[in-house]
Formats: sequence, C-alpha cells, structure tokens
Amino acid sequence: MLLTNNLGYPRVGAFRELKKANEAYWAKKSSVEELLEAAKKIREGNWKTQKDAGIDLIPSNDFSFYDQVLDLSLTVGAIPARYHSLLSKVDNNYSLDLYFAMARGFQQDGIDVTAMEMTKWLDTNYHYMVPEFTKDQQFKLTSEKFLNEYNEARSLGIETKPVLLGPITYLLIGKEKEAGFNRIDLLDRLIPVYEQILAKLAEAGAQYVQIDEPFLALDLDEKVKALYQPTFEKLAAAAKNIKLIATTYFEALKDNEDIAVNLPVHALHLDLVRGENQLDTVLPKVPASLTLSLGIVEGRNIWKNDYEKSLVKIKQAVDALGKDRVWIAPSSSLLHVPFDLDNEHNEQSLPAEVKNWLAFAKQKLAEVKDLAVLADGEVDAATAERFEANKAAAESRRTSPLIHRPEVKERTNNITDDDAKRTSPFAVRKAAQQAKFNLPAFPTTTIGSFPQTKDVRKWRADLKKGAITQEEYDKAIAEETENTIRLQEQLDIDVLVHGEFERNDMVEYFGEQLAGYAFTQNGWVQSYGSRCVKPPIIYGDVYRPKDMTVRWSSYAQSLTNRPVKGMLTGPVTILQWSFVRNDQPRSTTTYQIALAILDEVQALEKAGIKIIQIDEPAIREGLPLRKADQKDYLNWAVRAFRVSSSNVADDTQIHTHMCYSEFNNVIEDIAAMDADVITIETSRSQMKLLNAFAGDFKYPNDIGPGVYDIHSPRVPSKDEMVDLLRKAKAVVPAEQLWVNPDCGLKTRAWPETKAALESMVEAAKTLRAE
Ligand code: GLN
Ligand code: ZN
Repeated sequence: MLLTNNLGYPRVGAFRELKKANEAYWAKKSSVEELLEAAKKIREGNWKTQKDAGIDLIPSNDFSFYDQVLDLSLTVGAIPARYHSLLSKVDNNYSLDLYFAMARGFQQDGIDVTAMEMTKWLDTNYHYMVPEFTKDQQFKLTSEKFLNEYNEARSLGIETKPVLLGPITYLLIGKEKEAGFNRIDLLDRLIPVYEQILAKLAEAGAQYVQIDEPFLALDLDEKVKALYQPTFEKLAAAAKNIKLIATTYFEALKDNEDIAVNLPVHALHLDLVRGENQLDTVLPKVPASLTLSLGIVEGRNIWKNDYEKSLVKIKQAVDALGKDRVWIAPSSSLLHVPFDLDNEHNEQSLPAEVKNWLAFAKQKLAEVKDLAVLADGEVDAATAERFEANKAAAESRRTSPLIHRPEVKERTNNITDDDAKRTSPFAVRKAAQQAKFNLPAFPTTTIGSFPQTKDVRKWRADLKKGAITQEEYDKAIAEETENTIRLQEQLDIDVLVHGEFERNDMVEYFGEQLAGYAFTQNGWVQSYGSRCVKPPIIYGDVYRPKDMTVRWSSYAQSLTNRPVKGMLTGPVTILQWSFVRNDQPRSTTTYQIALAILDEVQALEKAGIKIIQIDEPAIREGLPLRKADQKDYLNWAVRAFRVSSSNVADDTQIHTHMCYSEFNNVIEDIAAMDADVITIETSRSQMKLLNAFAGDFKYPNDIGPGVYDIHSPRVPSKDEMVDLLRKAKAVVPAEQLWVNPDCGLKTRAWPETKAALESMVEAAKTLRAE
C-alpha cells in the first residue's frame, strides 16, 4: 500500500480566522486565552480534515501564529539582543509577546524596538522573518512548540509527523548582522539544539519527523554540499527510532542528487511538479534503504491534478522501488494555496466550468489519496468514479472555448522582433520627446497613486454594496481626481498623474477587465503575518475586450495643459501576482497579457495621453531559483515588456517603475527594457542603489531615483532631498535625472503628502539653479 504524505497545511483558516484573532489580540480587544483557543481550533480542524481525507503522514508544527521561520528562531534561541529587555515581560505560555515583538516591533513601557526584517520565502509570495546571526551567536532550546503541538494532536487521537526546517537551510536563509564570519560556520553550534529536539520527539513517541531542506534543490557551493552528509548523520543518531524525511521542493535536485539519495534518512521528498523529469535520473541511484515521497500534486497552484499523467510517473517509481517505498504527496506545503474550493459560490466571478478545473488545499488532499488508491490498484467504486470525473475535467480544459481563443493564440504566435522594438533608438526619441514636452532639467513627477483615504475606500465599498449608484461613485472619483490635478499644478509638478482613486489592488483592477481571468471570494493565501492576498486566476487566453483606463486618464488630461501620465501595470507583474495556468509556458501567458496592455497603450496614445507608465515592480521576483534558468526568464520577461510598450510613436514617452533594491545582477536586462524613464526606490539606501546604474555598465536612459521614502509618514526636508539628488548627480549625468518619490502615495495621508511633495519640487528647483 502506498502511504500518503502531506508537508504542511494552510493555517490562517478558511475565513482568515487566525488573522482576525491575531489582530484582535494585537489591538488588545481580546485576551491571550482567546487567541490561543482560536489557534487550537484551527490546528484541530486541520488535523481532522487531513485524517478524514485519508492522509497517513499528517504534519504538526506547521502551524504558526505569524511565521514558521520565526517560530524556529525562537525555538533555537536565535533571539537578537535588542529583544532581550523584553524577555522578562513575556508570558511563559508561548512567549507570545516576545514573539510578536520580533515579528512586528514593540513600542510600549518606554521600550522601542524594531521588528526583524522580512523577505520572500524562496520564489514564493510568502514572506518569512529573516534570522539574524552574530559572530558569537549561541543557540539554546528555548521553546517546545514542536513538542506541544505533537502532544496536542496526540491527545486528539491523531498521530502526526512534526515538521522542522533543516539546520542548513535555516542558516542559509538568515543574515550575518556583523562582519567577520560566515553564518554557515554556526552549524556546529546549531546542531546540538536539533539533537535535543529530536531526542525529545523520540521520547514522546514520534515515528516520523520531516526535515525541510529546500536548499538541497538549489545551487550550492562545494562547502555547503559537503555539510549535508555529516549533518544528517548527527540528526539521524539523535533521532533514534524516528524515521527522518529529508524534504526538498520548488526545484529539481539536479547536481545534488547524489548527496540527497545517500543521506542517512528513511525517506526523501522530491518536487515532481517543478522537477518534472527528475525520476529518470534519481530512480537508478536510490539505495535499497530509501523510500521516495513523490510530490506530484502541485502545492503552489490551484489546478486539478491530471491523474492519468501522474499515474504514469507513480508507476515508474513503483516499478523501480515497489509500493512500500513510494509515497504520494503534494509537491510542497499547501501553505501556498487557498483553503477550500467548496467555499466558492459566485458563479459570476468563478463560473462553474472554471471551478471544475480547480483544487484548493482540501481538494488536493483528496487527490493525493485518490492517486495512492489508483496506483495501488485495488480501486473502490467511488475512487473509480472520481477518476472518470478527473479525466473529463482534464479533457474539458484541453478543449474548452472558454480557455482557447484561436485569434489570441495566433496573434501571440506572430509576435515579431519588430513588435518588441521601438522605432528609433533612445537618443532620437529623447530629442523628439524634449521638443514636444519641453520639460525643465530634473523634471518632477510621482509614481501614480495618491492617498486612498477612508472616503475613497468607502465609495468603493458602497458601490459594491449598492449603497450608492454608479453615477454617484463616478462623481466622487471625478472630484477627487480633479482636486489632485489642481494640487499637482499648484505644487508645480511637471508630469502629473490622475491619482488611481478608481483602483484598489492594481492586479485585481486589470484582471477584472481582462478576458481569461476568474476571481475567488475566499481564496486567501498568507503573504506575511496576518496579511493575506487573494490572487486572481488566469485560466484562459487573455485579451482586452474594451478600454480599461482611458476614461479616467483622459478625464484627468482634459483638466490640465501639463502632461498626465497614463498608468498601467506591466505584463510580468500581472502574471507574477496571479495564479497562472499550467497548460502553457508562463512566457506564452505573459505575451498574451503584453498584447492586451499594448492595446491599452495604443488606446491611451490615441486618446491624447502622451506619457504612459507601465509598472513592473515584480519583474525581479520572478527570477528562477537556479542560475541556469535565469537568463531565459529575463529574456522573455524583458521582451514581453517591450511588446507591451514598443508599438508607439517616438515622441510617446514610456515610463516604468520598480520598487525594490536589488538591481546588481539584472541591470543590463532592466536597461534592455528600453523604457524612456525608469523610476526606482533608492532613498532608503541613500542612493547607494544607483551604483548598479552607474557601475561598469552605464544605464543609458533616464532615471528617477526616489528621493523620499513613502513607507513612513515622516516628511523629509528639502535639504535632505537636495542632498540625495547631489549624490545621484555624482554618479548619473544630470540630463538623465528625474525627481520623484520612491513609490505610489496611496498608503499616505494628505497633509504629509502635500508637505513632502512641496519640498521635493523645491529640491528639484534648487538643483536646476546649480
Ligand atoms: N502606480 C502604482 C502606484 O503608484 C505603483 C505601485 C507599485 O509600485 N507597487 O501605486
Ligand atoms: Zn513602487
């Protein structure tokens, strides 16, 4: 019999119960007991769901109030010194207050400490709290969460498999907080804590422990490669009778195959979604003692599994190893998919036909079980029926006219190199644009959005509820837009924006207007802490049935003689922040979106919008994990952007915007996007970021390095901004420089926005005078 193995389950709750419980506790509106109770209920519900679904290896310690990496930092006592003053203040139940202080900062009782830094978990949209290490870092078992949760499940009659992030990956995802050492050298100090953890679990009776080592599927240097075997030998010795499961995901093992299959563990988990063909090379190497856990049901996306296809792979493994040494599993933790498709009931935004192609976390458990039964061969009537339904769903996806639009496919196939190239080189365009706009040196602009006040959000909510009419809503938006245009004129900003008051989330705004998109009501996925996102679903060929932004952009332009920027989201960002179809390459989907955006660019151009910004804040985060795959990605991502922005007149000025701080390895690709102007985030790094734009490779087009940080309500002085601009001028020729904030202003309030922009314009004028 093939066992079923689950790696992790979403923990915010089907209706974001944990988010609500956390936030009530933070706001001091509920007690710690209430929070602990809410968490307990979620864990219990999750375990029972998995048990009922027939999962054999059910995870525990995958629950987290905020982040599982932060849980581990607390467990191994990697608590940065700035929190030590809080140690005496924490409750001893779960050290919850200390924990939340590390997650969110702490300002109370005269203490003021910042939160730990947060960053994206590998190539997902989930953010973890980055472990901080010092040179003389010590580790000490500090929390028994892993044991408490194991025992809690057991008291409910459910045997679980505790999950631990492995020690090598844990160190590698962290950061040195001082110079003079390499964090991987802390491994010898860290392992004893893992040994203690495993000893405690062995004593408690745990039969399996899952050790996540996703780095084993990434590019590793020789030094790290050599650490895996001795590390796992120590863990295995401490684990005694526990069967360890070394767990990899998000990539194929590739050059690390030999290391992985020879680890002294009971089982090895492989991602067969990302590493589709790795069985071919792994199977011949598997020693007789090793079991393979096949990650065959996608843990990162929301599509139904294709049983027929999966069974071929499973058979390949069973033929080589026998049924007893093959487990069926999702490819990764199910943390990255929404909870339960059965909670979706809106036929309008998610048609029944599309819904029939989907599987959320709960449905994926059933798929894992079905596949195990089907592969085993003793198939009951209900499973056989589901197999038939699964085949029918797969067939309907291959052929449904809802998905397949021949004219979109044809247009995408026929994209030529000319479609991905502006007519003239930048220098020619720049002259034409200068003749047309006659902008001063150091032209000023903003990134697009202006404050989304309570009022603005209320209009949108009221319109949705039917509390106000479309006309009333439009009138309110028009007034807000007009006020914003007048304000920008008054401030003497050179290139204006309309303010984006009609938009909530940018990807949702475009997704709702594009064909090929569906939306969920409860498809929440944890992004960080209590923050969840509801990514739209691209299920079919994408095109633009009608204008999306022309109305508000041309309205804004009609109010002023200054140029107003059209404001669009770029194809790669739209792709990156959606659930993406898996029946064609990501690049194909991106090109389809690019053509839809191009149609909008041309419609704006026709409506008299002469400057158009296409935001691509997510282009860098789409970078594949393995170096060998990065060039190919950058090629099509950049080309897709160019397709969306190239078929325009020389004197139409294309802007793009990105707000992150890592350009070093991708600067030439960013330049290849060939936007006339790029605005970027730089103020928090004091313009250091510009080094990437002015190093050996000189960025050729215009740049607007953000001169103030919009993430804080603090109003910067004119002098600070003058100072930053001088720093910029020292590395980038003055003729190339624009003046703007770091990012959109939608999270700010009006008073600080006005004050900051006033100083910003003055700063630009000071530079002009120099
Ligand atoms: N134009 C968008 C805004 O100003 C850009 C948002 C972003 O960079 N994420 O809000
Ligand atoms: Zn931004």
